[in-house]
Amino acid sequence: MKTYKKVVAILLAVLLVAALAACGNKTPEPSGQKYIIASDNAFAPFEYLDTDTNEYVGIDMDILAAIAEDQGFEYEVQNVGFDAALNQVQSGQADGVIAGMTITDERKLTFDFSEGYFDAGQILVVPADSTIESLEDLRGTNVAVKISTQGADYAQSIAEEYGFTVTTYEDSPTMYQAVVQGTNSACFEDDPVARFSIQTQALALKVVGDVINAKPYGFATKLGENADLVAMFNAGLANIKANGVYDTILAKYGY
Ligand code: GLN
Repeated sequence: MKTYKKVVAILLAVLLVAALAACGNKTPEPSGQKYIIASDNAFAPFEYLDTDTNEYVGIDMDILAAIAEDQGFEYEVQNVGFDAALNQVQSGQADGVIAGMTITDERKLTFDFSEGYFDAGQILVVPADSTIESLEDLRGTNVAVKISTQGADYAQSIAEEYGFTVTTYEDSPTMYQAVVQGTNSACFEDDPVARFSIQTQALALKVVGDVINAKPYGFATKLGENADLVAMFNAGLANIKANGVYDTILAKYGY
């Protein structure tokens, strides 16, 4: 009898779990289209994994959430990395990208951009104990950059003039580690990202010199596609700037 009761209890438990799982899978039909938004995977404070919750957080993630709520559209973010995010939009795997992406004339040939939502340029990052103070000091060294970024473009554009070589990395954390470990003398990173990462991750790095090429970040879609999404982003951005939500988001990350 005891064994029989145990078996029944286990069976009931199994049935309950199965029933709950079935409910969980039955997500309600989305009211409209669900946009796929691609993003970077390690670009604090714009998008980064909160290891406590295992969720991506950051200024971009919060701005997108606030705009989607304001405009009433559904979306799903895929934090695939910067280069992959740009490729996903171009190949049609994603509808848009928000990834601390600088609005440039060159990118406007293949992307439609929203209004700018944050201004940032690049800065030189060196080991905390480095004697490098300027571009001149990079001569004869090997500089780290992140693939497809403005920092990479800038480094390549001045490499010959300043006599350094360039090594390309897949993401920001790998690039920082190459500089920390001395594989590379320095790297170029977006100024707010370098400062935030050095501070919050206690990296043995420092920024030197002035901010280079400060320009706005924008939300982007493939050129000529998803104009409705860009329009909603712009309308939502104007609304969250007017109602204070935008300022609250920036303040949350120290701005
Ligand atoms: N703002 C830089 C660019 O657009 C870097 C973006 C990034 O690394 N996520 O190239």
